Amino acid sequence: MTDSTLAMSRQVVFSAADTLTHETALVPAPSDDQLVVKVMRVGICATDLHLLAGHIGDPFPLVPGHEFVGEIAAIGAAASATRGVGVGDRVAVEMLLPCRSCARCREGRYNLCEQDDMATGLTRGRQYGVNIPRTVAPGLWGGYSQYLHVPAEAVVHRLPQDMPWERAALVEPLAVAHRAIARGRVTPGDVVVVIGPGPVGLLVAAAARSAGAGRVVVVGTRDERLALATRIGADATVNVRAVSDTASAVKDACAGMAPDVVIEAAGLTGAQQDAVRMVRRGGRVVLAGACGAAAPVTFLADEELLTREVDVLPSFLSAGGFEPAIALLSRDDLPFEEIVTHTFGLDEVADAFALIESRADGVVKAVLDPWRTTEEDTHD
Ligand SMILES: [Zn+2]
Ligand SMILES: [Zn+2]
Repeated sequence: MTDSTLAMSRQVVFSAADTLTHETALVPAPSDDQLVVKVMRVGICATDLHLLAGHIGDPFPLVPGHEFVGEIAAIGAAASATRGVGVGDRVAVEMLLPCRSCARCREGRYNLCEQDDMATGLTRGRQYGVNIPRTVAPGLWGGYSQYLHVPAEAVVHRLPQDMPWERAALVEPLAVAHRAIARGRVTPGDVVVVIGPGPVGLLVAAAARSAGAGRVVVVGTRDERLALATRIGADATVNVRAVSDTASAVKDACAGMAPDVVIEAAGLTGAQQDAVRMVRRGGRVVLAGACGAAAPVTFLADEELLTREVDVLPSFLSAGGFEPAIALLSRDDLPFEEIVTHTFGLDEVADAFALIESRADGVVKAVLDPWRTTEEDTHD
């Protein structure tokens, strides 16, 4: 290692579709306006599995992982002065690296950054762990890695020093949930239905509860998930496999009222259609789940949308969601730790993916600890 090299970083790399390898990268010392984060936890997201399967373009070779938290390992003087943080501080870094100059960035919707990056051919914003290839120096652009490179344009949030890492690992998905709540303009007293109790759906229920929703109903297919939804913020749940008429069961769960807001977090076009039909006249439907490539969805233009003035509001990424997410995770009255059911090391990624795909062992959210070694018990 030279003077300008800070460390070596173990990494998981998606070298091509369906091809996962383990590599090592040099971690350069940060320049004046940069920092380097030592990754302590990174959530495994369905997006990561879709990336590996080749469903989200050709970003290979890619270091995946966009739900990371860690502590500052090194920081340039200018970055430290501008950001007000120093070595050892715990931080979350947003997955999108905004250009901070396009029209969308300037209006605050930096999740829609319109920067075209000639060097990488990216046209929809640079996203850690999703579309910045490892071939772009220094190759530390994903969380399945011991270290992360953080340039000047990154959005960095300080975390409480005493927040347990398992809880902190939920910052990004909870920020996604908070953006969904904001897009749906959830206000105190609203009746909110959440479809899909995956990690984001569960966190949407918690965020809706904290936003003062009058009633939160979670709709799903698995009783264990629905029980967890109740513990984290839902007033009632509906298991669609246990009822003959979903619409009337949801209405009952909403105490006879049609919901003001329905948030679709299952990522299913059928659930998007259900959401539009289920919401009250003049209500809001938030589309918060990705359905996968080329998934057309149709609505009856007049009967379902026009004559009912339903607002259909897609919610993408997490812009504006990190501050409320960190505040909510700082409260100790909600059992967020129950969502993080499994922790794996980097060399166990294949096992972790297999567990998630099989939905075995009660897995809700699995995370990676890049510093964990296989000698330890993997399921504590
Ligand atoms: Zn994610
Ligand atoms: Zn921009």
